[in-house]
Amino acid sequence: MIIGVLKDAEPEHRVALIPENVKSLLARKVSVLLEQGAGTNAFYPDESYIEAGATILTRTEVLEKSDLLVQISEPDETLIATLKTNQVWLSEFKPLWHKNLVNAFLRAGISSFSMDAVPRTTRAQAMDVLSSMATIAGYKAVLDAASHLPSFFPMFMSAAGTIRPANVLILGAGVAGLQAIAIARKLGAQVEAFDVRSAVKEEVMSLGARFVEVEGAKEDAAAGGYAIEQTEEYKRKQQEAIDQHAAKANVVICTAQIPGRKAPLLISKEVVARMQPGSVIIDLASSTGGNCELSEDNKSVVHHGVTIIGQSNYPAQMPKDASKMFGKNVSNFLDLLITEDGQMSLNFDDEIVRGTCITHQGEIINERVKSVID
Ligand code: NAD
Repeated sequence: MIIGVLKDAEPEHRVALIPENVKSLLARKVSVLLEQGAGTNAFYPDESYIEAGATILTRTEVLEKSDLLVQISEPDETLIATLKTNQVWLSEFKPLWHKNLVNAFLRAGISSFSMDAVPRTTRAQAMDVLSSMATIAGYKAVLDAASHLPSFFPMFMSAAGTIRPANVLILGAGVAGLQAIAIARKLGAQVEAFDVRSAVKEEVMSLGARFVEVEGAKEDAAAGGYAIEQTEEYKRKQQEAIDQHAAKANVVICTAQIPGRKAPLLISKEVVARMQPGSVIIDLASSTGGNCELSEDNKSVVHHGVTIIGQSNYPAQMPKDASKMFGKNVSNFLDLLITEDGQMSLNFDDEIVRGTCITHQGEIINERVKSVID
């Protein structure tokens, strides 16, 4: 089996496999081809891949010779149309959002796998790019907020007077939110967090933050731990609570998402106008509509002196460790597709392989994707 690593388009700076992953793949009797310069922006030069045993080729050669192609993000439809039907595609292409790509893979008869579809189970944890990348997003969001805030995060008592600690509000306490709480606490801020899932209350409190409680949330055990759409009555109560806490916050970090749906709108422009000038909102949900009414993806907007940063791809800004984590997740997943003699085998009896597979031989395999596309 030959695995080809493609270079992602700018502004993506991560690479899907790093040299140490190449070494483990070679040990499994697989060959690895790398598109020239694919790891350069992540600080993994071509020489480090050659040393690990990969072959460096042009993009056209990698596309031509590989059995399985891997990159970080979504390909464009034109590229999909040029693939051969026996080739396999693997990247995080967000099929619930990019239905056009699912259809393009179906038309081209390509077997496609999307890393964001890896089931959230204990066995699949080592392949869970959503968690690894959310960890980076939560961490970077707090650092970005701290560097934009015109005040300190920690409390200071000095001869020049006393500085109060910053008030930070985290909306959504999933993987990114919990990481953001931990980092904001380490920087000395006072932290509050809100989530519709009451199960996270203890985790929030164990990290030293206060949980903002709103009673009456709908939860669904069948949603695999994810949040579900809430009733109008709950949304109204939730809005009142968030408005009050957001107006007092110096920093709001928005991480609330519902898979396959527009992100819930939690911060209206009226609330932004009531925040203290100089406050900062970081919206990690900006690519799916944002939790703040004023967020624009990949942009920074100022409203009544409040800076609102829409950023859904912090991992691309920390490409070295992000690629290390992503690469390890991908390499662990590839282990499931490689036989003892280094051949590719797609075993659909394995729930991780089946769950992560979006299209195969002209059919949609992933159940959730099937339900939104059929
Ligand atoms: P996510 O990125 O889908 O959403 C972020 C958070 O936003 C979630 O906690 C969600 O409940 C919250 N949210 C959604 N709507 C909201 C609203 N209106 N108001 C406030 N908060 C709202 O979440 P995620 O970080 O990917 O985690 C999703 C679930 O998967 C969690 O239960 C997590 O514990 C679980 N998980 C399981 C595993 C595993 O078992 N291997 C690994 C990682 C995560």
